[in-house]
Amino acid sequence: MRFFKHLFSLLFYLAVLLGGMWGYENVPTFQTKVNIVAAATQNTIANIKSTITGESSQSQQTSTATSSDSNTSSGRWTKNSATIYINIKNQTLNEAMQEAIANWNATGAFTFTIVSNKKAANIIATTMSKDNQAAGLTDMSINTTTGYFMSGHVYLNSAYLLNAEYGYSKQRIVNTAEHELGHAIGLSHSNAISVMQPAGSNYTIQQRDINAVNKLYSTSSSSSSK
Ligand SMILES: [Zn+2]
Repeated sequence: MRFFKHLFSLLFYLAVLLGGMWGYENVPTFQTKVNIVAAATQNTIANIKSTITGESSQSQQTSTATSSDSNTSSGRWTKNSATIYINIKNQTLNEAMQEAIANWNATGAFTFTIVSNKKAANIIATTMSKDNQAAGLTDMSINTTTGYFMSGHVYLNSAYLLNAEYGYSKQRIVNTAEHELGHAIGLSHSNAISVMQPAGSNYTIQQRDINAVNKLYSTSSSSSSK
């Protein structure tokens, strides 16, 4: 019995590592986009997930699941650092992204290294322009076998953040960038006072966020993936 209990925990752990994430900020519903990295594994995990949670889960290669991510871990890097390439022309948004990166680096919990070679970057930070009520968006690709991030994109929505109608201060833009980078580190949403509140712009990085990152990266990476 103990074996099955252990197996079940393991399968559940694998199930919560499903796919990447689309963080639609400032919208009531949060959507998770499942990125298929290892199709065969993904299908197995998707089926297991539907068994455990009872929710319908597609197992096709291009499946898109919609669910709340507030309680699930989305993945992480093998260690608490990643390289990032900033492809943002707008000065306000560029500065906000750089400030957000500096603020995360100052915590000591995770280190982003800005690189000038796009191809060498783990994460691409860029903009989008969509009139869809989303201030930012993060899309991470995960190796579903290891649970580790493979690459990611962080977007700041210029159509939203630079729209005077929404009255975003510089600080709130920085908070939004910190929030999206939080997803790129592996943090999920939190309803507590946190940079990871779904609204995404009310708070800067809090001690609880630093603790969450330290916890996420407290276990050493498995050697099987490297
Ligand atoms: Zn988010």
